[in-house]
Amino acid sequence: MFDFWQRALIYPLTILLVSLLLWSILGALPAALFFGCAILLRLLFNLHKLGALEFWSLSPDTRNVPEDSGLWEDVFTRLNKMMRKRREEREKYATALHQIEQATSALPEGVVILDDADHVEWCNPLAETHFGLDSVRDVGQQITYLARQPEFVQFLAVANYAAPLILRGTRQDELVLSIKVVPYGINKKLLISRDITQLERIETMRRDFVANVSHELRTPLTVINGFVETLQDMSQLDNDMARRALDLMGDQARRMEGLVNDLLTLSRLENTNNTLAEEVVNVPLLLKSIQQEGQALSAGKHMMTLELDSTAKLQGNTAELRSAFGNLVSNAVRYTPQGGAIIIRWGEHVNGALKFSVRDSGIGVAPEHIPRLTERFYRVDRSRSRETGGTGLGLAIVKHIVSRHQGHLEIVSEEGQGSTFSIVFPAKRHLE
Ligand code: ADP
Repeated sequence: MFDFWQRALIYPLTILLVSLLLWSILGALPAALFFGCAILLRLLFNLHKLGALEFWSLSPDTRNVPEDSGLWEDVFTRLNKMMRKRREEREKYATALHQIEQATSALPEGVVILDDADHVEWCNPLAETHFGLDSVRDVGQQITYLARQPEFVQFLAVANYAAPLILRGTRQDELVLSIKVVPYGINKKLLISRDITQLERIETMRRDFVANVSHELRTPLTVINGFVETLQDMSQLDNDMARRALDLMGDQARRMEGLVNDLLTLSRLENTNNTLAEEVVNVPLLLKSIQQEGQALSAGKHMMTLELDSTAKLQGNTAELRSAFGNLVSNAVRYTPQGGAIIIRWGEHVNGALKFSVRDSGIGVAPEHIPRLTERFYRVDRSRSRETGGTGLGLAIVKHIVSRHQGHLEIVSEEGQGSTFSIVFPAKRHLE
């Protein structure tokens, strides 16, 4: 501060001293003239510096800050320092941003940042490929305007991001994308796309393979089964050994037939092109016939009752529902010891939903197994499942059918006490 006053006063004081000296030698007029001119010159000089500052501030350039060694030195030096610091910070942020950009570019997934109205704010190169975006040209554009597939538009509109969207044939017809949306900040979204074309191809191959193998096995099995049955029916066949062998062959062939049939059913259900053929399903009527089949399977070993608490019909597919209900009833029979009770029930659930349930007093399932029961070939007791003619695919089939009807499967069970398997159908499928 002292330095500033020293520099600020030195010039006027010098003028004053020189003017006083001139006054004493040449008189008042020349001294006053000199004083006036010198002050005017100083004023013009300051105005010039102010002008330079004003001019510079119009388009500030850190490399081009005005310079001075006099009174303005402090101002310009500080300005210079400030500008240098700003430049360094800007360079630091630019480097950090560049690094983030490089990292996101190297991500094996496409990333798009969307604002609260789904406008593109930024995207990485992979997202450009996936959605055919241009990271410069398309900034500010609505994403649904650029990627217009109806499923994608609906996915964003419904805003239920719990499960990823599988999008087929985006830009290139072959491409299959798995799209996830992660909301963050204030109404912002991160759209993450993953190319699952290869995975899908393998999955299709697996499905086709199972379907083809099952199909190929079915014909020879039917033939073998036919011959075994014919031989079993032959009255002349009195060799005990041969009869036992035939019975065994018959059992195994039927088991394989059951397995092949279940595999075919599963692959049909998994086929994405196979949409649900909707019709009006008279569930009470269907259940009466399922109860009869269950009783035939039980062969009088269980007490089986049907409780029809509702006459409601269902919008769905009769054959698929017959398979799902039948599987659950057959399980109840197979996993309930002789003398046990089985109750089949059809009734209203909350908010117009409908519920089918099968309750048994059978062997039950320990809690750790329950979440895995619908996996293919998952069995709590393999030998019991086999003995009773199980394939390990029944609940997997039920799960598929239930999801094709937008319902859900509920399993309540206690080991040694019995189980209740229920299917809840949404109200939109409820028909009076
Ligand atoms: P499986 O052909 O073996 O019965 P499922 O897929 O129908 O195949 O059922 C899977 C497993 O779930 C069965 O092996 C059995 O351990 C268990 N399970 C299914 N239903 C019942 C039930 N009502 N009571 C007890 N366990 C059951």
